[in-house]
Amino acid sequence: MESIYYVLSWACHRKCKHCYDDRFRPYVRDALESVVVEGEQAYARIIANLPERMTYRDLDARNAQGEPEEKIGRIVLSGGDVLVDPVRTRILYPAMEAITRKYRDQGGVRIIVQTTGDLVTPEILDDLLARGMWMISISGMDDYHVGLEGDKKLPLVAHLKDLFARRGIRKSGYHAPVMGWADEEGPVYDMFGANGEEWIGALWPRGRSWLNGLSKATFSDNFCNGWSGGLHFLDHGHAGSEVSIEPNGDVYPCCLKSASPLGNLQQEALVDILDSLAGHPAFEAINMGHPERMGLSFGWDTETFYEKSMRENPKGEIQGHLCFGCDAFHREVLSKVIADLRAQRLSEKGVRSYAG
Ligand code: SF4
Ligand code: SF4
Repeated sequence: MESIYYVLSWACHRKCKHCYDDRFRPYVRDALESVVVEGEQAYARIIANLPERMTYRDLDARNAQGEPEEKIGRIVLSGGDVLVDPVRTRILYPAMEAITRKYRDQGGVRIIVQTTGDLVTPEILDDLLARGMWMISISGMDDYHVGLEGDKKLPLVAHLKDLFARRGIRKSGYHAPVMGWADEEGPVYDMFGANGEEWIGALWPRGRSWLNGLSKATFSDNFCNGWSGGLHFLDHGHAGSEVSIEPNGDVYPCCLKSASPLGNLQQEALVDILDSLAGHPAFEAINMGHPERMGLSFGWDTETFYEKSMRENPKGEIQGHLCFGCDAFHREVLSKVIADLRAQRLSEKGVRSYAG
């Protein structure tokens, strides 16, 4: 697999108005303990059910024998903010150690720690490096993050660059979202945010971004057909493959989250779930980055899909987006298909399942 986006916990120290999931927010006392325990109890099983090797074959890069090169894939550990206490000590650190152990003798893995930026300290950076961090991805560099608007972010950027330089963490030669990171040696850093020129600049029509009427996404913004979307999610042996995982192990073809998870990694191996979906026309359409074609075999022509993709936004305007059609198709058709496939997998003898 080239990339896995793993949300370790819903806890965050911020409640940004543009956030793509309203579960990312501050939690206190029992509520904080509850979201921490959710991720803490799940990570070991989830990691055990990830692919045996986190490598992928790049068909465009050939070795001396003319075979596709095997490259090292990435696991992005994200929140919320994974540096929030006690997510950092009770989930992030042990998860990094478990991932490093699992892939040390299996071709390796690139661990990316994604964080807003303002919680980074020298001690935390040292802890992350000691646990094999390949990249720190600073994701809060935009005007939506309170206190980081415009030039207000510059002191933080300068401070972080100084911390990184003192530890030999170089600026990545690439900028998210890209393929080909496997070729770069760490430790490196990258900084991005929800800025107009970024691939997420239109804001996903999800979570608080949608509820606050901030997403400007239209049909032209086919997020499915790129990184973070459903593109290539089934192609787990090859370049471009990516899935996202929630703290409880639910797995999705995209970071935007389809309306039903494909399965749960506390119960089943990721590869078994993906292989059971390969060849199914709806999932193949998502895999091709063309969600409008997911219902063709079920009586949903593309015009029907586009009609179902219209939704009234909180400002009272009609807004069209392919992810809404995907949501509707899941509600009306695909969620039942997913549930049936899952029941079939679990009932079949010989299906690998860590939970047994
Ligand atoms: S955008 Fe990032 S920092 Fe802001 S609430 Fe969401 S996860 Fe937290
Ligand atoms: S169309 Fe569906 S599968 Fe594709 S990115 Fe949107 S929610 Fe995910």
